Amino acid sequence: MTLALTGLLKTLFLEFFTEKRCKLRIKMVKKTGWKADWQVEAKEGGVYLPQVDFWMDPRKPQGRALVTHAHYDHLAAHGEVLASPGTAELLKVRVPKGTRIRKLEFGKPLSLGGGVRLTLLPAGHILGSAMALVERSAGGAKKKSRLLYTGDFKLRSGLSAERCQPVRADVLVMETTFGLPKYRMPLAEKVIGEILGFCRENLAQGRVPVLLGYALGKSQEIMRALAREKWPLLLHPSIQTMAGIYRCLGVELPEGRTLNATTGKKAEGHVVLCPPQAVRSKGLEKLGAKKTAMISGWALEKGAIYRYGCDAAFPLSDHADYDELWEMVRMVQPKQVRTLHGFAREFAMDLQEKGIEAWALAGDTQMVLPI
Ligand SMILES: [Zn+2]
Repeated sequence: MTLALTGLLKTLFLEFFTEKRCKLRIKMVKKTGWKADWQVEAKEGGVYLPQVDFWMDPRKPQGRALVTHAHYDHLAAHGEVLASPGTAELLKVRVPKGTRIRKLEFGKPLSLGGGVRLTLLPAGHILGSAMALVERSAGGAKKKSRLLYTGDFKLRSGLSAERCQPVRADVLVMETTFGLPKYRMPLAEKVIGEILGFCRENLAQGRVPVLLGYALGKSQEIMRALAREKWPLLLHPSIQTMAGIYRCLGVELPEGRTLNATTGKKAEGHVVLCPPQAVRSKGLEKLGAKKTAMISGWALEKGAIYRYGCDAAFPLSDHADYDELWEMVRMVQPKQVRTLHGFAREFAMDLQEKGIEAWALAGDTQMVLPI
């Protein structure tokens, strides 16, 4: 048995038994001659790299894990959290007291032991959000093999987050929330103009405009957009808390009063910011005449206003749209792509059709093999 054949069998074994891929996947490995340079597993809602025993964004507690950003769907009570300085500050109010948080500056490598290095790079999703560049020696080669995990990201520049800084890597593990061609975001400036128009029109007619956006990230983006109009703001307590941390981290945000039972009765003339789940809460009933608007990339969906139970919806997103997903692949120039979250299978298939080795990390992937 030749050395090359032994290597191929080893590759097939590792791929099949460690990642439980389907038969078609094996065909693809054969066809392209890909070697198992990186093992990547979708586990516990996050990503695990078994060769270097490293967790990224798991939703179940681990001894040590990277948390790419402070949204709740990436958190757990880990023994030690690795995070960017911005994320570390935001996490302090979101993780159990006493959690050990180790701050990693963007661009400064940390040794994970065994010749493995971790470097965080801005992801552009929300303030402090990070991509992870993991480098290791592979197969005795002098050159390090590089894996880039995007976490949640966007390439468009926002008003309240660092600009995304992609780098080249051999393997790209990317989020694909908006991995269908129908998800193409209009220019943010245009959408912001429409949001301001919605507020202006309702204020003029004596109605309270209520903007619904996630307490962390989206709300601060909206606050920055509203700053130019100088309307008085009423902020849900969760938004007020996060805005305070943003200011401490150097992001200028307009001040606003905290929305409560008292302020709610005197809301006329104010713009109100609430998280989406507040749309059906009794607290909003105290506002009197009002109009609600959801601020989310999912506003691109037909019927979004009915789904969210609001009066309007504006597509301002913290995630990469379909074109930005492609742009990320072009910038990173990976040998392989692995997709997760959202339309992971569909985007992996689109990449395959263009001759790029790609598959979804979780679940069976319908492979389209290049002919
Ligand atoms: Zn997120």
